[in-house]
Amino acid sequence: MRDPRFDVLFEPVRIGPVTAPNRFYQVPHCTGMGNIWPATLAEMRGVKAEGGWGVVNTEYCSIDPSSDDTPYPYASLWDEGDVRNLALMVEKVHAHGALAGVELWHGGLRSANRLSRSSALGPVSLPSEPDPEQCKAMDLADIKALRAAHKAAVLRARAAGFDIVYVYAAHTYLIAQFLDPAINQRGDAYGGSLQNRTRLYRELIADAREVAADRMAVATRIEVNDEDGRGQEERRAIFEMIKGEIDLFDVTIADYSQEMGVSRFIKEASLEAEIAHVRALTGKPVVSVGRFTSPETMLSQVKRGILDLVGAARPSIADPFLPAKIREGRLDDIRECIGCNICYAGDGRGVPIRCTQNPTMGEEWRRGWHPEQVALASQREKVLVVGAGPAGLEAALTLGRQGHEVMLAEATGDLGGRVTRESRLPGLAEWARVRDWRVHQIGKLGNVEIFRGSAMTAEDVRATGAAHVLVATGSRWRTDGRGRHHPAAEPSFADPRTLGPDDIMDGRRPEGPVVVYDNDHYLMGALIAELLAGEGHEVTYVTSAGTVSSWTSFTAEQTRGQKRMIELGVRIVVSHAVARLIPGGAVLACGYSGRESEIACAGFVPVTSREPEDSLWLALGDRGEANAEAGLLSIARIGDCKAPGFIASAVYDGHKAARELGLEPAAVAPRRERVIVD
Ligand code: ADP
Ligand code: SF4
Repeated sequence: MRDPRFDVLFEPVRIGPVTAPNRFYQVPHCTGMGNIWPATLAEMRGVKAEGGWGVVNTEYCSIDPSSDDTPYPYASLWDEGDVRNLALMVEKVHAHGALAGVELWHGGLRSANRLSRSSALGPVSLPSEPDPEQCKAMDLADIKALRAAHKAAVLRARAAGFDIVYVYAAHTYLIAQFLDPAINQRGDAYGGSLQNRTRLYRELIADAREVAADRMAVATRIEVNDEDGRGQEERRAIFEMIKGEIDLFDVTIADYSQEMGVSRFIKEASLEAEIAHVRALTGKPVVSVGRFTSPETMLSQVKRGILDLVGAARPSIADPFLPAKIREGRLDDIRECIGCNICYAGDGRGVPIRCTQNPTMGEEWRRGWHPEQVALASQREKVLVVGAGPAGLEAALTLGRQGHEVMLAEATGDLGGRVTRESRLPGLAEWARVRDWRVHQIGKLGNVEIFRGSAMTAEDVRATGAAHVLVATGSRWRTDGRGRHHPAAEPSFADPRTLGPDDIMDGRRPEGPVVVYDNDHYLMGALIAELLAGEGHEVTYVTSAGTVSSWTSFTAEQTRGQKRMIELGVRIVVSHAVARLIPGGAVLACGYSGRESEIACAGFVPVTSREPEDSLWLALGDRGEANAEAGLLSIARIGDCKAPGFIASAVYDGHKAARELGLEPAAVAPRRERVIVD
């Protein structure tokens, strides 16, 4: 039963003409689905409503072709077809008694309109991102057309059945560009004074109100501060101006990587006071996203009068059933977000959202996966899982829930595999939640037995009498240099100065000066450089990419990560490979010219690629007859021992292997959503 302390979170909240059934509010967030995969999107949002979120919003939703973000998957309300597609989402959300909201969006100069080929629009003509083309400075006719288009989109939102419609003034999009005095240098009635810079915003709100009337609430998303923490006074004046017309304030903070919930950048200092001020100033319900994520912090924010609705993006992705679990008093079942932001990367890569903690995210429609339910196996099997990293733990848990008799064998005394090691790196402590949640859940099952200190050989596996074995033995970082730059081993790396990432995570340390060579481009190289520099080593970070941890631009971490490295005094060398080690130094090769240079190197950490730990799988595969004699029906490898990758991929692979155990491929073929010409 629920702790009565949490009752307040289950109170209904009036938002203008509509009422949210509780205070759990899924703020608009990208899904990488947008208007490309509408059924996939609708099912995913519907599952959140089923999990108890009282309000479920869309992602950014374009009002017309003058705001086209192709190739990024955005939602749209351009025409009747879009109305039909989004009505499906609304229907799925309403089916569980939740409200559906739509975040109408115009990107302004940040929308390059690559598909629609209409000139980008902005308050003045500036380069649009990231193409070397400029937007058109909006004239009065453009402003009139924009107002008409926005109003028509509100009408379509109403037709689709939405309960809440947003006027979106945050995240440096069109309205924010008009508000920003640094960008808006117009000399007419839409630029200059605050009154003028807010004119378009106020007009769009008034237009939205007119159409929304008593059917939809009008919300706005706006930052409480600006990027430098300056301008609070001006923000307050804006809130004062619009408060009469707005039913709900969805306030954000200007620091994007904090707002995005990337755990390694979250600062304790918050803008709670400013957010509380919006509530006091406007007298309207306030919601905000960010660090207000655990049940305790959610409760505290509401009790202290900071917020009326607790906004969440990541927590609703990692655990769509978070509200239901609080309601049922099952706090320990909540699958907590780890703040890795892999979920956001889907948008930048143009694919549906993936989550490290929740392998069913994005697979609700395609594979029919539910985050809380797995079908009981028709036949109880004896299954052995070898390796207790993310893949093995997830597989063992899911198999256990299906009712199988599961043995999980782990070579070491520690569970968690790579996450246990990686959570020791700077800022990654929360990654251990991938292990902890699964170990805790497995502990609740009577049919999963864990064997630590059990390094399995093929003979050991056969002796268990298991009918099925899932090999989840992981991978180790290579130290021989193999990777993108050196497809074959570089002989000079076999040197006493060389330590691999696994050595560093296990506590070994190199001599200084140290060269960390990042040919991987995700977090490992940068975090080792950060760790060693933090301990006082003289560190040079060499990357074959053009920026520090270049792939993390997809997780909104790149800029902050590079800044941190600069602040730590790490010397950064980009677009260079470490060609070879020489006595006392390393030879670097320019990625463009091939020109070589030398730097001092007494310690060397290559971060290039990983070696799948597949020896057990190979040994098992070699002995078909012995396996058959031992009663082994199937052997599969999962996770990093098959293909080293993200933790999210290993968790997904473990989950999938468990759900599909013993099933024919045709029975588990995913559905495919695409346009068919009619
Ligand atoms: P993944 O990300 O695919 O789950 P990890 O590297 O995180 O992979 O985890 C692999 C786990 O498998 C490690 O904890 C490792 O100790 C364990 N392991 C490797 N080989 C064996 C083996 N032969 N028997 C039992 N456990 C093993
Ligand atoms: Fe949280 Fe990572 Fe899942 Fe995103 S991908 S919701 S940050 S655990």
